[in-house]
Parts: sequence; structure tokens; C-alpha cells
Amino acid sequence: MRGTVSKYIRVLLVDDDEDDYLIIRNFINKIHDSPFKLEWISNIQDASVVIDEEAHDIYLIDYRLGEENGLELLGRFDLVQRPEPFIILTGAGDERVERKAMRMGVADYLVKGTLDSELLSRVLHYSMQRKRIEAQRVEQLMEINRSKDEFIALASHQLRTPATAVKQYIGMILEGYAGDVTQEQQRFLQSAYDSNERQIQVVNDILRVAKLDLKKIILKKQDVDIAKLVESITHDLMSHFENRDQNVTLHKAKSSILLPVDSEYIRMAIGNIIDNASKYTPEGKNVTISIADTGKNVAEIAICDEGVGIPKEGMDKLFKKFSRIENPLSVKVGGTGLGLYWAKEIIELHGGTIKVSSEVGKGTTFTIVLPKTVATAPKRRGTLAPLPA
Ligand code: ADP
Repeated sequence: MRGTVSKYIRVLLVDDDEDDYLIIRNFINKIHDSPFKLEWISNIQDASVVIDEEAHDIYLIDYRLGEENGLELLGRFDLVQRPEPFIILTGAGDERVERKAMRMGVADYLVKGTLDSELLSRVLHYSMQRKRIEAQRVEQLMEINRSKDEFIALASHQLRTPATAVKQYIGMILEGYAGDVTQEQQRFLQSAYDSNERQIQVVNDILRVAKLDLKKIILKKQDVDIAKLVESITHDLMSHFENRDQNVTLHKAKSSILLPVDSEYIRMAIGNIIDNASKYTPEGKNVTISIADTGKNVAEIAICDEGVGIPKEGMDKLFKKFSRIENPLSVKVGGTGLGLYWAKEIIELHGGTIKVSSEVGKGTTFTIVLPKTVATAPKRRGTLAPLPA
């Protein structure tokens, strides 16, 4: 297994030709002070299982493997993510294969007829060295990213405290705690209050995304009646629908559906989607929310609006961070472009999925699928065996 300290560098050769194995073994034996220990597998199925175990340090894969080829075998693995180098062995003039293999993320290629022990030693050593450098770079980038997320989390936290104080003081002046307020002063103060509230909202959005990216979200799952939760979310957002003169309808499943969720996080995630349905729908139109028991293991929540819709070009970036897609209402309603990114991540943390279908000018449906609570069989009370007659 990887992580086991071994004095050897374990090289796995996947080649259906025993002669080739013997040649390569011979080259490796000739390497001065060779740290390499060669192991050999001749068929693709066994190779697939062994490679999956990640027990070796380097993989040498022959392109020609009987009926199949080495690229098919390599296609089963994410070579870019794997820490060990994969090297493909090709025949002379197989440039197309070499290019394809490189695109898949192989570390190097060796042309069989041209091989000798010096070349083999160099390629094995260099490919390992390159993978080590790559891993260090990835680690450095991840560290930079972590520091950035921590900075954002800290900065937004620091920004929120004074912004909240501003809100409290403006509120107190508006309520007359500091004496009478003229109508004009009230108007200005109200604008300041509203802007401040938007600012706090933005800071909150950034803070919760930073927390998510830092993987600091710990779900506290409990069984929740999803219809009741969605009803309560809709109720909380009712003023938004009323202000836009929109009609919202909720269709529930016949019997209650329990989902194992962190109700606070799922409330915010679904709330975001329902709020968007209102934000991006013109006044006087309808929003329909349906909860359905769609299968043995999952439930579905569909939020369907008659809004502006999402253009095809926008679909790719819909769930990306800070991506706002322009539409006739986006300037008016404002936003940070963080809501859908956050909602998707939270739903996926729950083992769920979110999909969207939309038609510009007609409307959009977001469909959330979440796993249901697994019903456990009730404990059977012990029964007494009948007494012998
Ligand atoms: P925000 O609403 O803050 O811009 P979101 O991440 O919630 O950020 O949404 C990203 C973009 O997706 C929005 O800018 C909007 O263009 C589009 N969008 C989201 N929901 C809808 C919807 N129901 N109808 C049309 N467009 C939507």
C-alpha cells in the first residue's frame, strides 16, 4: 500500500508479452545500484485491479495489450490526480498514441525498440521527480488558497461587527431614541439603513462561502419533514412574493417525507432558490413549489417559476462563485452571485443533487434531489415458542 515505507521503488509493468517483460527486467537489473523492483502483470483486468490499489510507485503500461490497448486501461484512472507517474510504452512511429497519452496525463513515453538500461533509469527517475515537484506546487497553491480563504473569512467577520453596530444606531435614531426626526431626515436615514442591510447581506454571503471553502461546515443532521420545512421557508419569504404581487403555490406529497438534513443549512440553500424564483420573475406571475416522493431512496423538491429564464450561455457558470448572469431583472434586484454556488455545495454535502432547466422568457425550474431517511425495521419483540403438547 502507498504510504508503506519500502527501500525499493516498486515498478509495475503491464505488458502481455513475456519477452518484453524479460527485456525490461534485464535493463533494470543492469542499472547500477538500482532502487527499482519490477513486478509484471500480463492482462488488463488484473492490472486494473492492482493499479486501483495504488500499491506501486511507477506504472509502465504497454500500448498494445492483446485485443485492448494501454490507453483504455489508463482511461479508467485520473492520471493527473494520481501521485505516481504512468509511463506508456509504444512502438516506433506511434506519435498519435504518444500525443493522446500525454493529453491523458501520462508522465512520459518510451519507444520499445530504442530502450536501454540508461534511458530507462533516466525516465523512471525523472518521472518520479517531476511528480514530486508537481505535488509540491499543488500543495503550495492549496496553501495560498487556504490563506486567501482565511483572510476573506477574517476580513468579512471584522466588517460585519461595525456594520451591525451602524444598523443598530440608525435603527435607534429612526425610532426616535435621539429625539424627533424630520420627514426628510427619516427618508435619508431609511436609505442609509437599507444600504447598510444590503452591505451586511453581502458580507454574510462572503463569510458563509469562505467557511464552506475552508471546509468548516459541520452538518448536524436530523430527520426533518421536508414539506413542513419548505412551507416554513416559503412563509418567511412571503413578503417578497407579496411585494411583487406574485402567487406562490405549494404541492406536497400525500404522506410526509423525512430527510436526514441539517435543517438550518438546507433552509438557507432551498431559501436561496425560492428567493431567486421570486427575484427573477416579473410582478404578477406564478411560482410553484412541488415536493414529491420520487423513489425508494430520494425525494424531489422542484421550484418552478414563470420568470425571465436563463440563456444557454449562462448555464455553465450558473453554479460558479461570483457569477451573476445578466437578465432584464438582475440590475434591479441586485446580488452577489454566490447564492447558487453555496446552495449547490450544501445540497451536495447532503449527498443530493441540483439540476436546472430553463427557457428564456418562459421560466426556470430548479430540481433538488435529496436522500430520504432510511427506514429501520422495527425491533421484533421476542416470541415465546409454543409449549409442547
Ligand atoms: P445572485 O442572485 O446573487 O446573482 P445566484 O448565485 O443566486 O446569485 O444566481 C446566479 C445567477 O443565476 C443570477 O445572477 C441570475 O442571473 C441567475 N438565476 C438564478 N436563479 C434564477 C431564476 N430562478 N431565474 C432566472 N435566473 C436565475
